[in-house]
Amino acid sequence: MSELVYIGLGSNLGNSEQHLLLAFEALEKLSLTLSFKRSSLYRSAPMGPQDQNDYLNAVAEFKCDLPPIELLDQLQSIEQQHDRKRQGERWGPRTLDLDLLLYGNKAIDLPRLKVPHYGLKERNFVLLPLFELAPNLELPDGTGVAQLLENIGQHGIEKIA
Ligand code: ATP
Ligand code: MG
Ligand code: MG
Repeated sequence: MSELVYIGLGSNLGNSEQHLLLAFEALEKLSLTLSFKRSSLYRSAPMGPQDQNDYLNAVAEFKCDLPPIELLDQLQSIEQQHDRKRQGERWGPRTLDLDLLLYGNKAIDLPRLKVPHYGLKERNFVLLPLFELAPNLELPDGTGVAQLLENIGQHGIEKIA
């Protein structure tokens, strides 16, 4: 069994572009052959504390045969390889954040893992790269990504050439 999964990538510490490009490569190793797609990179204003750098964000889509928790373990291990620190304030600066946005059409509610990711519907810096990869995508509750993005708008984000 494999599922189509979507991962949200974010970085605003160190060489963010390099962190995201290396993360794409690491994620591609978790994907089944020929299924891997990456969005463009987007620059976005920080969420939460404003005294930090802008973020680079992107989304990856791929087919994966790892169970959800094992996929989360892999995401956290890649974050650790990028020296991700979890002390400090919520939504503070980070070298690399990898969030599991969607796991097929499944809804998951475990202590360590909620899917769809709880911020997905409110974050245009996630919805825009997601829409780029999958304009017709629907969440498990039937909401369309295109509709969500239209409601929220594209304020504060720019695509990087
Ligand atoms: P946010 O979750 O608001 O984007 P964040 O990404 O900075 O903030 P983290 O410190 O990366 O938050 O993650 C906190 C915890 O969230 C992790 O330890 C993880 O177990 C849990 N978590 C729950 N659902 C998910 C998910 N869908 N993807 C990634 N982590 C998740
Ligand atoms: Mg996050
Ligand atoms: Mg995270």
